[in-house]
Amino acid sequence: MIAILLGAPGVGKGTQAKLAAERNGWTHLSTGDLLRDEVGRGTELGRQADAVMKRGELVSDQLMVDLVAGRVARLAPGEVLLLDGFPRSLPQAQALEARAGGQRGARVGLALYFTAPDRVLTERLLGRGRADDTREVIARRLAVYRETTEPLVAHYRARGVLREIPADRAIEEIQKDLIRSVRELRTDPSSVS
Ligand code: AMP
Repeated sequence: MIAILLGAPGVGKGTQAKLAAERNGWTHLSTGDLLRDEVGRGTELGRQADAVMKRGELVSDQLMVDLVAGRVARLAPGEVLLLDGFPRSLPQAQALEARAGGQRGARVGLALYFTAPDRVLTERLLGRGRADDTREVIARRLAVYRETTEPLVAHYRARGVLREIPADRAIEEIQKDLIRSVRELRTDPSSVS
């Protein structure tokens, strides 16, 4: 089963996904981490992605779908995959559904939508100190998020799989909501409304 983590940059979904995956034996796949690894190794993909990431823009849908498709194809029966940072656009969501649809157990069962006020997002991003976390790039990333990624909220709500998780709270409070949502779905696939 695939659970998507949606939300603005800085909302803390990566931290949450990593922790929940470690504690429950789930798989965590962060496309941002995959790209940073490619950049670090100086691969051709890394070189292409680096410039885009430094501007706060999105890497092309085709590259991203290729990067994630192999992992989705290898999903084991009963495996829970927390997808962190993908999909980030409607074409990516459609490509994921097309690929996951052909496989038993690989459907998108849940879209966890992490929310926090903009002020909190910017503070968290500035505090993180990553290369793409300067004030100017942060503003661009938030704008790109609103324009390209936020429409996915309506997309997954219409499919009946959206769960909102207020993320301006203590880490353990958020963990409880995340883990409960995934576990409920695993025992009763009809429970998400
Ligand atoms: P993240 O660590 O998820 O904030 O991702 C860091 C950067 O990687 C983003 O600002 C994008 O430039 C790029 N990126 C990560 N995931 C995707 C995706 N699914 N589509 C396009 N670009 C992505």
